[in-house]
Amino acid sequence: MQRVVIIGAGPAGLTAAYELSKFPEKFQVVVLEESAQLGGISKTVEYHGNRMDIGPHHLYTKVAAVKAWWERMMPPEENSASGDEVLLKKNRFTRILFKGKFFDYPVKLNATTFENLGFGETLKVGGSYFKSLLFARQEKSLEDFFINRFGKKLYSMFFEGYTEKVWGRHPKNISPEWGAQRVKGLSGVVVLKNMIGKAFNIKPKKVETSLAETFYYPKFGSGQLWEVTARESIKNGVEIFLRTRATKIHRKPDGTIDGVTCERCGEKIFLPCDILLSSMPVKDLIAGMDAVPDEIRAIATGLPYRDLITIGVLVEKLNLSVPDHWVYVQGGDVQMGRFVVYNNWSPCMLSDAKNFWLGLEYFCREGDELWTNSDEKIAELAIEELVKKNLITSPTAVKDFHIERVKKAYPAYFDTYARIDELRKFLDASANLFCIGRNGQHRYNNIDHSMCTAFEAVKNILSGTNDKSNVWDVNTESN
Ligand SMILES: Cc1cc2nc3c(=O)[nH]c(=O)nc-3n(C[C@H](O)[C@H](O)[C@H](O)COP(=O)(O)OP(=O)(O)OC[C@H]3O[C@@H](n4cnc5c(N)ncnc54)[C@H](O)[C@@H]3O)c2cc1C
Repeated sequence: MQRVVIIGAGPAGLTAAYELSKFPEKFQVVVLEESAQLGGISKTVEYHGNRMDIGPHHLYTKVAAVKAWWERMMPPEENSASGDEVLLKKNRFTRILFKGKFFDYPVKLNATTFENLGFGETLKVGGSYFKSLLFARQEKSLEDFFINRFGKKLYSMFFEGYTEKVWGRHPKNISPEWGAQRVKGLSGVVVLKNMIGKAFNIKPKKVETSLAETFYYPKFGSGQLWEVTARESIKNGVEIFLRTRATKIHRKPDGTIDGVTCERCGEKIFLPCDILLSSMPVKDLIAGMDAVPDEIRAIATGLPYRDLITIGVLVEKLNLSVPDHWVYVQGGDVQMGRFVVYNNWSPCMLSDAKNFWLGLEYFCREGDELWTNSDEKIAELAIEELVKKNLITSPTAVKDFHIERVKKAYPAYFDTYARIDELRKFLDASANLFCIGRNGQHRYNNIDHSMCTAFEAVKNILSGTNDKSNVWDVNTESN
């Protein structure tokens, strides 16, 4: 019997736990979770009967094995499943709010855009787009990446300010690799093809994630999937310890991990292990690890993240009709990056469907002015911006609010990220250590890819394979 410790009860950690729990004769599995909740960044928080996710969390994947796994864990409602543990099938509807008008997302060269921008501006957009096709830039920055795909005019309207809002850096100072990861395959050409295909009812061979039309959503919020997964894993013998933070990783000079120290209710506990799967941020993993060379520690310490504050705001009435799942808020007049309308995801997200339950997202840095503000001050800003965007008439429309601060919401591809391969090589030298998930690999993985890293790690554990490239290759061009 091998003792497996898994750090983190988010999608990656719980997928690994569930997959390993199918072999109770081989593995004794323990999951350590520092927070009081299951689901990691994909959790659903309940506040006064209203439920909110961390921003919009839709289940969409191109990986058939992941889709089938979701459907087994929670059957889709359309397949005549009923009750509370079902996946709702939703048709994605998201737009951009810019200068008081709604634009399609991704922005399209269509009648809505024409109407919103006016003839002159649209001509400029089209002209600058074709110019970018004729005179492609050498891609040294994210700015070059966007301009090559959308033209300068569209870039300056819809990408420049928004990217800076999300990442806290101008696209000129961000590597083009970020774009390749985030908006893989999405360009003016793809957007145009998609429009033409729709007009003539031609199905695209390959759907880009950013253009996904339908998605699944658990009836009680994104986190419900992970609550169900945890319950099924526990049934199979997995132990999950909440409020339990892994603080020290015991690494022998030959690389073997022989245990983890965790802290729980002020007590330090040593857990020996034969195998360790870690979905905690790789920066923290290295910080808590023994026998790490200085240059490797420096790479891990320098890895950057973007943090997030998400604010649930309960209002009695919206001024505008917003049937969207989420809306991108463009323009420098507000700090808000996006907002979600939970009413449009599932009626079970609200205690009283007469209200509107919104989730506003503010991208920030842990410890900056916004982050350290009191909840009341943050809510004041959010409410002021809702009024500014004409979503509500006055602050009196707000009945309640709830704030969640999310550390390391986005692993960023700047600074020492350029040396991530050296870090990976060091981590791979520990044969019994598997880095999985989003922050576990410092990769911009969504739920599906975070799960795939767990699938691959479990495959290797079962087959005894030492080469971990399959685990790291998830969500890269090489797979
Ligand atoms: C705003 C936003 C919107 C998103 N929308 C979508 C979407 O629509 N669709 C989609 O597929 N994906 C979406 N994602 C991505 C999705 O949230 C992640 O891919 C997914 O949650 C990653 O799962 P994970 O298990 O790797 O990591 P996490 O969810 O980060 O879970 C890691 C867990 O480890 C725990 N942990 C950390 N350190 C320790 C420690 N020292 N000891 C013990 N436990 C520890 C954490 O508390 C956490 O619970 C979104 C992300 C954000 C930020």
